[in-house]
Amino acid sequence: MTLKVETFILGPIENNTYLLTDPDTRKAAIVDPSIPSREILESIRGNGLSLTHILITHAHFDHVGGAKWFKNQFNAEPKIVLHRSDLGLWNEGGGARDFGFDFDAGDQPDMILDDEELIQIGNSKMNVLFTPGHTSGHVTYYLPESALAFCGDLIFLHGVGRTDLKTSDQNDLVLSIRHKIFSLPDETILYPGHGPSTTVGEEKENNPFFN
Ligand SMILES: [Zn+2]
Ligand SMILES: [Zn+2]
Repeated sequence: MTLKVETFILGPIENNTYLLTDPDTRKAAIVDPSIPSREILESIRGNGLSLTHILITHAHFDHVGGAKWFKNQFNAEPKIVLHRSDLGLWNEGGGARDFGFDFDAGDQPDMILDDEELIQIGNSKMNVLFTPGHTSGHVTYYLPESALAFCGDLIFLHGVGRTDLKTSDQNDLVLSIRHKIFSLPDETILYPGHGPSTTVGEEKENNPFFN
């Protein structure tokens, strides 16, 4: 069964926050909650969904600003998921100080990834792909049965993520895209942290960074 994806554009940097739902089990996950959102909360409650995970692609403040809030709305039951190599960024306020303000992401995440682990979302298996480059602990969440992936700020429609930030590395970013993203089936839909969705095939053909 294919999972359902809803996109919410939130916050001053127009982040995509995604609500991922398994219609069979009514389990749901949020990807990169940029800021608290009543609209997403209503959608979860109104549809009788149970929120099991809050998936973070990387710890920049604009991707985690709503994590603690959403967790608290559900008796702290949803697990916040983050890669270990982005814990430093999480603890330092998600890089917000570089933009001139302070930010506190909250307590430590509940599930700290060390490897390319497998996470169960409802009846679907989700692979964690380690895709450093934009940050050192950036991951992509890939759902093979639904042919889709949440790729954060790794790759965008005809673009790539910034590599001029504190824990960025351009070589890593290129390797991550080539080895982890371009090896997925062409029809895989890529849901990025900002801007419209795209596909693996489209980016292999037409991403100016690789052509
Ligand atoms: Zn970022
Ligand atoms: Zn971003």
